[in-house]
Amino acid sequence: MPELDPPEGFRAIADRLESAGFEAWGVGGAIRDALLGVERADWDIATNARPEQVQGMFRRTVPLGIEHGTVGVISPDGAMYEVTTFRRDVETDGRHAVVEFAGSIDEDLSRRDFTINALAWRPATGEIRDPHGGREDLDRRILRAVGDPAERFAEDYLRVLRGLRFAGRYSLEIDPVTRTELEAAVSGLGRLSAERVREELLKGLAGPDAGEILALYADIGALETWYPELAAVARKDPRWASTLAAIDAIPAHRSSLRLVRLLLSLPRDGDPDGTQATELLDRLKCSNAETRRAVHLWREYLPLVSPADSAARIREWLSEVGVEHARDLFRLHFAVARAAGASESERVLLHSWRRVHDELVSGAPISLADLAVDGNDLIELGLPSGPLVGLMLEELSAQVIEDPSRNERETLLAEARELIELGALDVLDDI
Ligand code: ATP
Ligand code: MG
Repeated sequence: MPELDPPEGFRAIADRLESAGFEAWGVGGAIRDALLGVERADWDIATNARPEQVQGMFRRTVPLGIEHGTVGVISPDGAMYEVTTFRRDVETDGRHAVVEFAGSIDEDLSRRDFTINALAWRPATGEIRDPHGGREDLDRRILRAVGDPAERFAEDYLRVLRGLRFAGRYSLEIDPVTRTELEAAVSGLGRLSAERVREELLKGLAGPDAGEILALYADIGALETWYPELAAVARKDPRWASTLAAIDAIPAHRSSLRLVRLLLSLPRDGDPDGTQATELLDRLKCSNAETRRAVHLWREYLPLVSPADSAARIREWLSEVGVEHARDLFRLHFAVARAAGASESERVLLHSWRRVHDELVSGAPISLADLAVDGNDLIELGLPSGPLVGLMLEELSAQVIEDPSRNERETLLAEARELIELGALDVLDDI
């Protein structure tokens, strides 16, 4: 038995529960990861104390889900631990469960999804509970459902996606019976809520081996229900493999950028606006802000600037893509080059990025906000407020992007006056 080395806060909370006469067990992912030697911060606790008793025992608690038995306890070191009363399922429908409190840790473990997640360790005694052979499966690198796989997936179809995440993340072979039932249960994925499916995808994207997890989604047929566009790419497009490699080349904590990288595998021919990407994100009920940002990056991914471009062209590109998105666009391109081992492309990208960076720090005007005049100035010149003001600002902005020395109030007002007299805005309106 390797030494388990939980965080101090976990020990403090467990000690407190035990000295009040309750059992306190570390459970689930914390024990799995500790046995694998994987560092992690969140150690969940299972106990026979009832939620009200837990609340009464600690000074700082958060009611995370009292009806499900979960209380957040803030440890003396300021971290929050989830303390959950032993539970059993009394009713399941494929997407949520009605639970009641159970009497023993073993009962609690038998409602968990996979053997490797159904482990518990009691720091007070050093005892390990492993009624489903999770440690052996961990040692042999096998993913196996607890109990009857078909039943377990039908209770909650999210387990299908969770299973693929664990298999990809820990390089587990899926036990043959579990695998057969997992493939069969894919047809139930449509019953899940968009939110759970999205959170599960983001969890996969936020860890190591995200590419492997997505490859498993594709192999098992788990893309079809929620991501049919991606399933089509995975079936026939060589870009699928390079996309997965590029995802892994983006740092894991940038999971939303990894999601954009995933969407970039969708064909651009016939869909330059990224309608498919938008539909996919809407289906997942991503927030409007998230969707807007992701689709913006998708659209502006190409064309990128090159080292041969003029400074004026680089500023123009920056104003088109938005200063705040430039770095992310480069990150997306860098990931592809790195994944392909294309050091020449990386060198060119680095050169381009230096040019972009130079313009960013030069203080040269790039966005409308940098312009030495604003809409009110133009209205004072006699321009009617409305769309013409915006058009005029854009025209002036284009001029100062080309030639930053023109970004002087008097110069721009004179230019605006001239354009108004020439009636040039009518023409601008047409183009
Ligand atoms: P990680 O946090 O590293 O993704 P984890 O194992 O901690 O992995 P959580 O989703 O945090 O996963 O859940 C904690 C534990 O609760 C799991 O280890 C598992 O025992 C149990 N569990 C979570 N979701 C389910 C589910 N849908 N069905 C059955 N058991 C579950
Ligand atoms: Mg967890």
